Amino acid sequence: MTKVLAVIGSDDVAVVYMASLDGRMIEFVEALQPPHPRDERWILMVSTLFGCPVKCLMCDAGGRYQGRPSAEQILSQVDYMVGRWYPDRRVPAAKFKVQFARMGEPALNMAVLDALAALPRRFDAPGLMPSVSTVAPHGADAFFDRLMEIKDTMYAGGRFQFQFSLHTTDAALRRRLIPTRTWTFDRMAAYAERFLRPGDRKITLNFALAAGSPVESEVLLRHFDPGKFLVKITPVNPTCRAVRNGLVSLIDPHAPASGRELAGRLAEAGYEVIVSIGDVRENRIGSNCSQYVLKFLESREAVKDGYACVPRTPPV
Ligand code: SF4
Repeated sequence: MTKVLAVIGSDDVAVVYMASLDGRMIEFVEALQPPHPRDERWILMVSTLFGCPVKCLMCDAGGRYQGRPSAEQILSQVDYMVGRWYPDRRVPAAKFKVQFARMGEPALNMAVLDALAALPRRFDAPGLMPSVSTVAPHGADAFFDRLMEIKDTMYAGGRFQFQFSLHTTDAALRRRLIPTRTWTFDRMAAYAERFLRPGDRKITLNFALAAGSPVESEVLLRHFDPGKFLVKITPVNPTCRAVRNGLVSLIDPHAPASGRELAGRLAEAGYEVIVSIGDVRENRIGSNCSQYVLKFLESREAVKDGYACVPRTPPV
């Protein structure tokens, strides 16, 4: 079902797989967190839609929406990567993250829930930790209600990560960056009240932060309890759409200190803050969040510091 046509990257950093799923193209990714070897920490990213109707301004995976993969098609991406390294389906990593975050807003595909429910049975992976990151689209309440049940029954005790992508505390600017109707901040906070159980991880508020996008601690505190939410700040990664839309990253991936002032302000307000920069080699591979190699190969638009590797035929 999954036919990998090309790969890009290297096994010691990250690999992007470009594949046909029943005739439609998709990408999935595996990455390490150096210096940890694969047997300790391993991160997979799978696609949850063919294209994405949301079309966030910084994201190359947006657009060209062609429908929803089934749960089996989502799981087949995990199968391929696990099968490459662990054919017996025993994944020893103490941290084995499966992120539903390559192409597609996961809340627009109910099959993501079936895939989540099937994962623990499919692999012998004591370190399994799924991660769902969402812009919280309007009208996806049934998805979020069932997500809560699955988290409680299958991933209790902090074995699940959930993230709202905010990108700014300015609601009008957020609507421009994420051009679809989404939950308000109050709605997200109300969901958190129902979602969190003792032992769960805090919900992450993610900011892929462009210069000129405000992050006001007063606004955050009005809606998001620091006891329930943590803040993650990341660069706007080098993508064709970020360049086209004039989005310049506030965080310089080569100068981690560039996030320090903001992180300090948010920490003073009481939030646990993570400045997550990652390995800059991933930008060149095209494996980072919001990057999508197939889109780049089509357009060949110049992207400084991004998409600088050459695809090759897949390993046998
Ligand atoms: S960031 Fe997520 S929701 Fe936005 S266009 Fe990309 S895949 Fe879709």
